[in-house]
Amino acid sequence: MAFLQSSEPAQATVINTGSELLLGRTLNTHGQFLANALWPLGIEVARQVTLPDGDSIKTELLRALEDSDVVILTGGLGPTTDDMTRDMVASVLDVPLELDVAVEATIRDYLESRGYLFAPHQSRQAMVPRGGEVMPNPLGTAPGLFFGPDVLAEFECRALAVLPGPPRELHPMVHEELAGRLIAALDGGHADSIRAVDFRLVGVGESTVTELLEPSLASIEGLKFGYCARISEVDVRCVGSDEVIDRARRKVVEFFGDQLIGEKGESLVGVVLDGLRERRQTLATAESCTGGSLAGALTDVGGSSDVFVGGYVTYSNAAKVRDLAVEEAALAMHGAVSEEVCAQMVAGCQSKTGADYVLACTGIAGPSGGTTEKPVGTVFIGLGLPDGRIKIEKCHFRGDRCAFKQRVIWSALDRVRQAMK
Ligand code: AMP
Ligand code: MG
Repeated sequence: MAFLQSSEPAQATVINTGSELLLGRTLNTHGQFLANALWPLGIEVARQVTLPDGDSIKTELLRALEDSDVVILTGGLGPTTDDMTRDMVASVLDVPLELDVAVEATIRDYLESRGYLFAPHQSRQAMVPRGGEVMPNPLGTAPGLFFGPDVLAEFECRALAVLPGPPRELHPMVHEELAGRLIAALDGGHADSIRAVDFRLVGVGESTVTELLEPSLASIEGLKFGYCARISEVDVRCVGSDEVIDRARRKVVEFFGDQLIGEKGESLVGVVLDGLRERRQTLATAESCTGGSLAGALTDVGGSSDVFVGGYVTYSNAAKVRDLAVEEAALAMHGAVSEEVCAQMVAGCQSKTGADYVLACTGIAGPSGGTTEKPVGTVFIGLGLPDGRIKIEKCHFRGDRCAFKQRVIWSALDRVRQAMK
């Protein structure tokens, strides 16, 4: 196989079927889910196609089997007449559809144990194209199907998976049934030797990352790499053998060791919460310009309650005075967006909550409210440390309100991460 010799990641085509996906009734979430799930196995989605229920599925399936290492087909496994996937697979592979009595019995049990009658048309779901392996579906009636290299001998493709439409059935099937079969079908050697890793960096821009890392990464033979930048984060995507990935990791650490938060999809919030939890320390927030979004981000992660004490949203001057004991005089003399007021917000929050770490922010999100001295995007971020010290930093962030808030939140959280080192 071409991909074994070139040590390239295997190439997959994902075909999502269902007229409702094209009518805008249902959001196609399988494309993203599958790409994310396949990537760590060293399988890259090269093409993703969404098709209505109908004959175009056959044409696309044939084309995909001829030019892809892996093909994943989703949807259309139900009992109704528009669920034609099994028939189309059998037709394209030129094999008969056969009734699998064990599958039929499982479907019967599944329905009867829930108080439904097994109707004759349900048997459709127990029909298996010859050579297909059944992937059990404990959460629904339609099992998944898998075809390995033997059945696909006349095609380029090494593995064809047919998965049920409902996300709650498809997700566990991918992890529990499909991943292992894919690794085995891709000849073990291939899946073992090629790895895909996303080195996640925070607090550094994409252009800086590219400028500093590009020459080093480009000089590593056998490494495929790329970048994915989001607000306040950059993923450096690397694909290669274990040895090649190790060399890439050394370069990433050399240039951006301080900014690297993980390589297994870690989130900054998660890293901060885990770090505090390990140290048995707590965090509280005093927010102005982020309007509670910092507390929101912290509480988006399950189990944050043992670390996150609580937060104040003090948007108006009056609220800053009332809730955090900020002095009226400081507000009058320096303005709400000032080092002095930010420091008083931290101190107020420290004394009210007793948290080990306190984060405070006060800034101008725009579009109005800027001055020449404090333009839109100006923000003071305060950090209260376990020993009581308070550190304030003045920053300037670009972007609309939404981007500004996220940059403030990421920058604030990263201060706690750095302080824990
Ligand atoms: P099907 O097996 O194609 O009849 O689909 C069963 C259910 O899964 C329907 O409610 C679909 O809307 C849903 N579904 C199918 N494909 C997708 C997809 N790509 N993303 C999200 N939901 C889907
Ligand atoms: Mg359907």
